[in-house]
Amino acid sequence: MRVAGLVCGLWLLASAAPVAAQTERTVALTFDDLPYAGEVASGPGPGPGPGLSSVEVAALNAKLLDGLRAHRAPAMGFVVEKTLRALSAGDSDAVLDGWTREGFELGNHTWSHADSNRLSLDEIEAEIVRGEASIRPVMARVGKPLRYLRMPMNHTGDTAEKREGVEALAARHGYALAASTIDTSDYVFEAAYQRALGQGDGVCAARIADAYVAYSAVEIDYYAGLNVRVLGRAPAEVALLHVNRINVDTLDRLLGLYAARGYRFVSLSQAQSDPAYGRPATYATRFGPMWGYRWARELGVRVNGAEEAEPPAWVVAYGEAAGTPCLAPTA
Ligand SMILES: [Zn+2]
Repeated sequence: MRVAGLVCGLWLLASAAPVAAQTERTVALTFDDLPYAGEVASGPGPGPGPGLSSVEVAALNAKLLDGLRAHRAPAMGFVVEKTLRALSAGDSDAVLDGWTREGFELGNHTWSHADSNRLSLDEIEAEIVRGEASIRPVMARVGKPLRYLRMPMNHTGDTAEKREGVEALAARHGYALAASTIDTSDYVFEAAYQRALGQGDGVCAARIADAYVAYSAVEIDYYAGLNVRVLGRAPAEVALLHVNRINVDTLDRLLGLYAARGYRFVSLSQAQSDPAYGRPATYATRFGPMWGYRWARELGVRVNGAEEAEPPAWVVAYGEAAGTPCLAPTA
């Protein structure tokens, strides 16, 4: 049959294409809420009560940087200045110096991580300016520009006016808005993981870590597919992660997921040099969707967000409710 022959011929052409002609897949790793996406306990050392001590936060960052170095993976750290101030001066310096010593960039994640949907443009500007108090001199010391701003919750403007205002503010202060294309809902798993660790339940913590890695694999593939569907090609991806315990404890496995899929780790500026990020943004939303969903709106491509998998219900329930048993479906 002619049609079948044509299809077969195209298939042969496609399969005969040299490997070198395939576009290399790249991903930039970004970690938000540096120095720590959780409560920092007051006081000089480990002690009773919630949160990590200043010393523990510094150690967590050091462990994260060790893991990234082992994979030769660059990363970008987005700093919340107010959280940084909760550390001792020595630990604060150690955290920031640790990141820049690796050659990694620091970005602005605002002063207090306030929701810009609830702020005026003047208040947002104050958040941006106060947010760079520590990172601007640190970056200047290593001879690098401070060039990326990531809005808390990725809230880049809930109205057209706000969105344009936020963009103008960022540009006026020398920033590009940091994008993100892969979300693995790490904060949902972190809440459950922290509860398990707090209760000394190592079996449950390991179960949650396994579920997080499995869900991350699903999400990496989902967003890669979404972006190809919307753009017609694979853009340089930007993974949105947080400085938290579950990411640090599973980092080797998480980075292994990307390596197994043929991704090469690049810096955020390398990723955002992809023309996909040069498109003028026109989509205003009170939510903070990944860029694939934004591009879909701007390009008029219909996508169904309901196709995206949710974190396992047992993980969500365990993380939210005290007294909920830690039960994987197979347990
Ligand atoms: Zn954040």
